[in-house]
Amino acid sequence: MRCNWIIKGGRVIDPVSHEDNVRDIFIRDGVFSANPPADNYRTVKAKGVLVCPGLTDLHVHFREPGNIKAETISSGSLAAAKGGFTNVVTMPNTIPPPDSPEGIRFQISAATSTGLVRVIPSGCITAKRQGRNISDIEGMAKAGAIAFTDDGSTVSNEAIMKGAMERAQKLGLLIMDHALDSTLAGRGVMRKGTRAEQLGFEGIPEDAETRIVERDIKLSMQTGCKMHIQHISSARSVQLLRDALSRGIPVSAEATPHHIALSDTDVDPGNTSYKVNPPLGTKSDVEEIIRGLCDNTIKAFATDHAPHKKEDKEVEFAQAAFGAIGLETAIGVTYKVMASSGRMRIIDWLARWTTGPCSILGIPCVGFSIGTPADICLIDASNSWTVKSAEFLSHARNCPFEGWNLPARAALTMKAGRLTWCESQELLTDG
Ligand SMILES: [Zn+2]
Repeated sequence: MRCNWIIKGGRVIDPVSHEDNVRDIFIRDGVFSANPPADNYRTVKAKGVLVCPGLTDLHVHFREPGNIKAETISSGSLAAAKGGFTNVVTMPNTIPPPDSPEGIRFQISAATSTGLVRVIPSGCITAKRQGRNISDIEGMAKAGAIAFTDDGSTVSNEAIMKGAMERAQKLGLLIMDHALDSTLAGRGVMRKGTRAEQLGFEGIPEDAETRIVERDIKLSMQTGCKMHIQHISSARSVQLLRDALSRGIPVSAEATPHHIALSDTDVDPGNTSYKVNPPLGTKSDVEEIIRGLCDNTIKAFATDHAPHKKEDKEVEFAQAAFGAIGLETAIGVTYKVMASSGRMRIIDWLARWTTGPCSILGIPCVGFSIGTPADICLIDASNSWTVKSAEFLSHARNCPFEGWNLPARAALTMKAGRLTWCESQELLTDG
């Protein structure tokens, strides 16, 4: 496992330093260096390829413990490395959920043994994610939890959410919320509207999300706690967030690839990969989320990679589990919607996968700074490819982009100078 590299002749794009320049990158003993390594190094032929900092995904589900047929920390890490990621934040809706320091320590130790990506766990806001008693936020923070969420559901009780936010605020840590009012969402399986009526499906109204977003913004203002809205899906939510940011309230949000690439009109009752939570919005929701990404109201993409076993997805749409996988298509889908389309400059698109999520989490994004661990993602944006979920490293196949032609993918990923993914050995030469 050699950690001396010359990355030769690539287009270096760095949202940290705002560099966009063709040059070589040097790595010595796993860290960026101003000078090339003298010996015992390998070369990556990067001509025509984008050389980027490693990507950070704020929102993944690795299903371990409890549902390891769907995904393990190890298989999820493989999928993340293949997707160009060096940091991922895991969600706590495992069985059992990490609502204690022990649960957080388990996540960290299982990830350390794989070592392909930095797995940064989030902890539960409430014990067992039941929404009743605030969990040991301070203990979990000490054990390494970076943020707190009951993802999969919101904390419905406002007083409990407020209490948790007051405690997180004292630690300077983030609360993240799956903003969806379960009473309003009821038994809905997709967004309420014309398409749901056509299909005869029960709908989830838009205000199931926006009412909670309004509440969360109010609580963030009252407590001063950083509040992050997960997988934003409605135009009104984006507008509420934009307004809150203009008033200096410490809120943020993430947009998933599926919420910007698909709308409710795409829902095919024969394909349960379109059943996601929150549900796909309308075309005007999609346009407003894209506008929010462009004007920096939404600073981060996140996959909400939600793997499921075959038997939980290969059933009637109404009975199927919610969720879609996204790690291995994240670069391609978001690049297609935002960069290839000309909506965003490549460096701004990249910022939503690097500096944006890191700033939300409050962790440094170092770019290519000399002396820092060499986290790199090489992106091939010159050759399109066709999505075949059978080739995924994830255990799961519930991908809504099967058969899509995508304009970009991760060609190579390194974490601290260690190769964690390489599309083709032809990229590498000795010396
Ligand atoms: Zn969620």
